[in-house]
Amino acid sequence: MRLAAVLVCILATAYAAPKYLHCVRDAETAIKIARTRGKLIFLTVLVDNDSENRAVVDDLFRDPAFLKLSKEFVCLYANKDDEHGKVKLRLKNGKQVLRCADVPSITCEDHMVLAMNFARGFFPGSLARTPVHFVIDADQEIVATIKNGTFEQGFNHVPAKRVVSALKRLLDKHGRGLTEEEYKHMLALWSDAKAAHARSNVTLELKKLLEIVALDRKVEGVQKAREKVKRIDTLAAKELAKTEPLVEAGEWEEALDALQKVRETYPGTPTAAKAKQRRDKLQDRKEVKRLLKARDYYDRAQHYKSLEKLDLARKYFERLVRKYGDTKYGELARKELEAFGER
Ligand SMILES: [Zn+2]
Repeated sequence: MRLAAVLVCILATAYAAPKYLHCVRDAETAIKIARTRGKLIFLTVLVDNDSENRAVVDDLFRDPAFLKLSKEFVCLYANKDDEHGKVKLRLKNGKQVLRCADVPSITCEDHMVLAMNFARGFFPGSLARTPVHFVIDADQEIVATIKNGTFEQGFNHVPAKRVVSALKRLLDKHGRGLTEEEYKHMLALWSDAKAAHARSNVTLELKKLLEIVALDRKVEGVQKAREKVKRIDTLAAKELAKTEPLVEAGEWEEALDALQKVRETYPGTPTAAKAKQRRDKLQDRKEVKRLLKARDYYDRAQHYKSLEKLDLARKYFERLVRKYGDTKYGELARKELEAFGER
């Protein structure tokens, strides 16, 4: 019972709607967050403090369902008027600041500057009537506009319920982007990738970058990781090209080793897959198979020789000469047998 009560308490805290809408200070910050986290921007534009504009704050900005949903967006508030009253906010460093009573995460000056920039055309659609809500993506394209009805209907604000359902639909379509935890995880992966790069450990760097790519979101960090993986794959392709002359020269063992090295150094890349394919194909060639078999006999013979089991060693060398005498290991085995004869 006690644990359950604690859980309920924790859950209630985690999922409780915030008391106020959280807005960032300016458009640049909003765009940056949108780009790095894959979030949409929710911008509310109020021209002044008319009653219909006030109704947006009193209704929408205080609506629990909206406030909860607003955490999925990067929010901006533009209003060229002041006079909202101030709330005292205690900062982490103990200082107290005065903030706009509408949206205490910013000051009245912040939303006035934003309204000015908005009117100057920072975002398209500046001439829209207010009150109006814009949903904007990281490329500053307007994804949706939620505005009040027609002129005939007057400047009625959109009821909170309708804004919430419109935003939910948009979220379903666009996706929620990275949570703060996922974002932090991505930053940690990036830091690992950079450290690996500094140590010239391309294999580890690639592993971390591929983990970022696997997050598979429309965010800047994932996009950058994709580009980096592509660049590394170009390096891998150059290494792969170097193996071709070895194959042509019939230096199969060296070619197989070089192909294996490309696979191991650049795992997960298209080039590593190509290297595997070429290696399999090479290993399948009759003459290569014979060479590898001959090497296997030779290794065994040497193993027995090192254990002083000379009869067994001699048996393997002889078998090698009989079956694969034409290979380079056949030649080596003959020399070993000659040495045996001299003993
Ligand atoms: Zn204000």
